Amino acid sequence: MPSATSSPTLTLRDVRHGYPNGTRALDGVSLTIPCGMFGLLGPNGAGKSTLMRTIATLQTPSSGEVRFCDIDVLREPERLRRTLGYLPQDFGVYARVSAYDMLDHMAVLKGITAPADRKVTVETLLQQVNLWDVRKKALAGFSGGMRQRFGIAQALIGNPSLIIVDEPTAGLDPEERNRFLNLLAEIGEQVVVILSTHIVADVADLCPRMAVMVGGRVQREGAPLELVQGTRGRIWQKTVSRAELADVREEHVLLSSRLSAGRTVVHILADHDPGNGFVSADADLEDVYFATLADARRVHAGR
Ligand code: ADP
Repeated sequence: MPSATSSPTLTLRDVRHGYPNGTRALDGVSLTIPCGMFGLLGPNGAGKSTLMRTIATLQTPSSGEVRFCDIDVLREPERLRRTLGYLPQDFGVYARVSAYDMLDHMAVLKGITAPADRKVTVETLLQQVNLWDVRKKALAGFSGGMRQRFGIAQALIGNPSLIIVDEPTAGLDPEERNRFLNLLAEIGEQVVVILSTHIVADVADLCPRMAVMVGGRVQREGAPLELVQGTRGRIWQKTVSRAELADVREEHVLLSSRLSAGRTVVHILADHDPGNGFVSADADLEDVYFATLADARRVHAGR
């Protein structure tokens, strides 16, 4: 455990990373991440996994600073690893080994060598993630949701105070996703949990704080409600016909179009009243996300 007595905080300062092929995956990321669930939202290619792997000490950034409590993460990766739980994006366990035996093995690797301690750890975790009944089954036969729940169990070995889950709900059906998110919500409040995702609802449902990342940069950061309020006056709504939709797309920055009783309801981004039948919309987090992507694209195009 980190020795700081105050509640754990992760701080990133101007973190940059360029891959050898020239891709600038992180372009000056600065973030302060307090205790609780933090949502890192962004489209594919935004740099989320690069950032998660950097925090998890699996890769070293080109420059910048990462601190967790009193740990200088880039200089003392071993200390960070002792207090880290990580569920990577590509966590695949196709082993013929049972869930119990695999978790037991992973607990040994995490340093829980005393058999009695390990038994308590493994049994508690299997119950916590609701895999107790299938503990003797081979992981190879697990569904996607069961596999992700096993992934959380292994991430929780040793009571980490920093937990990183990278795109954990991709590919899960709605019921499995719900179950998984409920499990995340139960993780203690005295722990920093970073949930990286491209699914807006994951963040909206779970995270008191969040950031939106696009093109290697943090474009927005704050409480979801605060961010929603920040778009006030910029999101406009209209019900249109299919034919009108093409015009809207042409003339405005279209954020979303949803079918409602056979008609199409569009949301657009505009700094001033666009007139022409548009009314101010009750924005939600999805509007914030798409508006952020649109703003980032505009800035990029104007560069
Ligand atoms: P995300 O997790 O948000 O999808 P990534 O961190 O995986 O984003 O990728 C960010 C950018 O870096 C993308 O343009 C991706 O193609 C590139 N990238 C990721 N990994 C590598 C790598 N090993 N070598 C070169 N480019 C990479």
